[in-house]
Amino acid sequence: MAAPAQNLRINGDRLWDSLMEMAKIGPGVAGGNNRQTLTDEDAEGRALFQKWCEDAGCSMGLDQMGNMFARREGADAEALPVYVGSHLDTQPTGGKYDGVLGVLGGLEIIRTLNDLGIKTKHPIVATNWTNEEGTRYAPAMLSSGVFAGMHTQDWAYDREDAEGKKFGDELNRIGWRGDEEVGARKMHAFFELHIEQGPILEAEGKDIGVVTHGQGLSWTQVTVTGKDAHTGSTPMPMRKNAGLAMARILEKVDEIAWSHAPHAVGAAGHIDVYPNSRNVIPGKAVFTVDFRSPELDVITDMENRLRVAAEDIVNEMGLQIEFEKVGGFDPVKFDEGCVAAVRDAAERLGYSHTDIISGAGHDACWINRVAPTAMVMCPCVDGLSHNEAEEISKDWAAAGADVLLHAVVETAEIVE
Ligand SMILES: [Zn+2]
Repeated sequence: MAAPAQNLRINGDRLWDSLMEMAKIGPGVAGGNNRQTLTDEDAEGRALFQKWCEDAGCSMGLDQMGNMFARREGADAEALPVYVGSHLDTQPTGGKYDGVLGVLGGLEIIRTLNDLGIKTKHPIVATNWTNEEGTRYAPAMLSSGVFAGMHTQDWAYDREDAEGKKFGDELNRIGWRGDEEVGARKMHAFFELHIEQGPILEAEGKDIGVVTHGQGLSWTQVTVTGKDAHTGSTPMPMRKNAGLAMARILEKVDEIAWSHAPHAVGAAGHIDVYPNSRNVIPGKAVFTVDFRSPELDVITDMENRLRVAAEDIVNEMGLQIEFEKVGGFDPVKFDEGCVAAVRDAAERLGYSHTDIISGAGHDACWINRVAPTAMVMCPCVDGLSHNEAEEISKDWAAAGADVLLHAVVETAEIVE
């Protein structure tokens, strides 16, 4: 299949103007946005997106989770569409670009193809996934998760916000519950453009991150049991100090994560010692070890080595230990063909690029389970996100959308 011509570009000014126009809906208190999911502001943002899509000649589909699908027809009625999108909802003190860039980047691709009269074999569908942020309704990526079969729709509808309002009721209230069965759509491929939300691209002076993986996560809760005793009157040889054992184990956690540098990380952020009193040697310590890596083998290795090392430590000290896996999700490996389309696009367009691993979760991480998927990242200033001060440059946005355009169009196949 032919690659798109090197001079094929999106309209960076129009993309930027649309970003600024959308940012007027649900303004924050410090220059960013508060357009949380299923609020009146979310409804208003959706209506604006729908109007823009219809002005661009698209038909809008809406499923029972409120996911929006703006379709530009392809030349082959039988061909599965290429999907492109992200989310329009924001954090309560969110930025103007997190998610929004990926949705409006999808729209900008359609506008550009219209301008140039370019037809593709496969239809192109610009998508807005409901409730990516997960602040008002946990968990994050809720509706792409239902789409990919990770959660049931009934369970999602029963999620409650801090005021006890249910997701399903609020979706109805704002008028964005569709009839379409969630997940019934089949995709030829899915692409998501997103700001990095980290500092790597800016620090390395790269225009584009070619996202190859998403970090996996493992949480192991460890309980070490010794014996509470007086800190003054208990001789050193007679102590069963669970706090000390924990300290030694945490040194091992650090060592194990470093042994898989640079992509693996490990720490314990949750720590409790009992009875947590100044003059009592802790008789119990409970802590959760958080290991992350883009490779499942590495996560498994880190979990296993933690258990062996911790058992050695407590055996030598005469204490007891228990392990419980309390959470986690598998690393994501994006589709090689889609990743190559992104990398080739950056190369063809002359943008500097590097392979990158997404440290945050994204809708693409769930959609990758049901369709060939890849992500494009662009830098953000100081790596700052989930903050009203989140900032990107117009050039970065345009570069990201250009790469998205080329990857999508190559996958959707130009017919004339
Ligand atoms: Zn996001």
